[in-house]
Formats: sequence, C-alpha cells, structure tokens
Amino acid sequence: MADAANGRSVLITGGNRGIGLAIAEAFLANGDQVAVTFRSQTELPEGILGVQADVTDEASVDAAFSAVEAAHGPVEIVVANAGITKDTLLLRMSEDDFTSVIDTNLTGAFRVIKRASRGMIKLRKGRVILISSVSGLYGAPGQINYSASKAGMVGIARSLTRELGSRNITANVVAPGMIRTDMTDELPEQTKRDYLAAIPAGRFAEASEVADVVRWLSSDEAGYISGAVIPVDGGLGMGH
Ligand code: NDP
Repeated sequence: MADAANGRSVLITGGNRGIGLAIAEAFLANGDQVAVTFRSQTELPEGILGVQADVTDEASVDAAFSAVEAAHGPVEIVVANAGITKDTLLLRMSEDDFTSVIDTNLTGAFRVIKRASRGMIKLRKGRVILISSVSGLYGAPGQINYSASKAGMVGIARSLTRELGSRNITANVVAPGMIRTDMTDELPEQTKRDYLAAIPAGRFAEASEVADVVRWLSSDEAGYISGAVIPVDGGLGMGH
C-alpha cells in the first residue's frame, strides 16, 4: 500500500542488486523518488536513478549525494546497505581482511550517514536505516570482521538517535538473517544446510521480505521507533 508521504527522496547504497535493489523497488512501488549507488555500471529498473559511489571513498559518497540532491532534492530517507564479507577463522584472518570489511560496512555507513544528516537537519526530518545482520549480535564463526562491523551499526543508530532524535530524525537497524542473494549463494553447501536447520522458520527469506520492513520503518506509522534493532531472520537470532 502506498505511504501517504510518498514522493520522498530516498537513497540506498549498494542498490544495484540483492537486498539493496529489493529495497529500491519497494520504495519505487510506494511512489517515492528513488536513487541507488552502484560501483560498476549496471542495468537498473526504469524509474530508479543510479549514481556511482564507493562507500570507502568520502569524496565519491559526497558526489553521489550531490547528484541525488540535484535530481530529487535533499535525501529524506537513507539506507546504508552496501556491505561485503571476507569470511575466515580468526587465526587465518589478516589485518587487511578485518579492516577492509570494517571500512566498507561500518566506516562506509558512517560516511553515508554523516553526509545525509546535513540535509536532514535542514529539512527537520529524516529516516536513517542501517542494514546490519543477525551475525552482528548473535556472532558467527569465521565472521569476526563482519560481526564486528554489523554490531557497530547498533552503536551508530543509538548514538544518532540521541544526537538527532529531537530533530524529527529516526535511526534504526534492520538485522536480516539468511536472505537469498549473491552473498549467501557463495556459502558452502554444508554451511547453508547448517543454517537451514537452525532457522525456526525452516527457510531462507527473499530480499523483498527485508525491503518491506525497511519501507515500513520509514513510514509515518513507524515515526516513534528509533534506536531499535528489527530482526528479519525467521527466528534465527532469538535472544538478541
Ligand atoms: P550482495 O553481495 O548481493 O550486494 C552487496 C551490495 O553492496 C552490492 O550492491 C555491492 O556493489 C555493494 N557494495 C559492496 N562494497 C561496496 C562499496 N565499497 N561501495 C559501494 N557499494 C558497495 O549483498 P546482499 O544484498 O546480500 O547484502 C546487502 C546488505 O545486507 C549487506 O550489508 C549485507 O551485509 C547485509 N546482509 C545480507 C544478508 C544475506 O543473507 N544476504 C544477511 C544479513 C545482512 P557491487 O555490485 O558494485 O559489488
């Protein structure tokens, strides 16, 4: 169902595929003005504006925001979705494996949110949504770098809520479990079977199921939710 406040300027990082693209499609169906970042050129559905950006590069993030602002006006809803994994056990994890995942997933989110907050403060409204992971709070072997980056997002959302909550800006974390995308396709078959056995819902989810929650979190109905962690994991992370 279309939200009453449609036509808003929305920017999703890493929105050319997977969960980010599903989020972009959900906002598009809602009647919003939707932009996504991509790194390499890609085909996007009609109606979605693509802007090139690498979240590890502050200047590139700044240029992407400027392009979106010129096309759609100040960004009112930002979804920090871009993310990578470099899974390996601690003893084999190089410092570069650790810092590169932190730089993309956590510092990348910081760069994006910092740039977005300027416009939101002027607008006196805004929605910040960080795409974390069940691994952030539950932990996962082989994901010390990734889990640390995703847990850090909770600190960002909660501190941001305390800094900007009085300006009609909310900041929330969505923590997906196992979602069918390129990221999970790459997992070894045994790992997929182990996760499947541990998920009370008994299945992986579609990216659209995460997208629907993100769209709802940015609706008027969710205006009093801030600093929250919303799991979309079929019960995998129960006990967070
Ligand atoms: P994909 O691997 O399918 O897509 C990742 C996206 O992030 C791509 O658009 C990619 O761009 C972009 N990206 C990666 N690095 C950068 C960068 N440095 N700058 C800009 N964009 C970048 O992942 P998913 O769709 O599965 O995941 C999306 C988010 O959801 C991630 O943050 C992930 O950690 C999280 N998540 C996913 C889960 C799952 O089960 N799939 C579970 C829990 C969380 P490009 O196409 O250029 O590589």
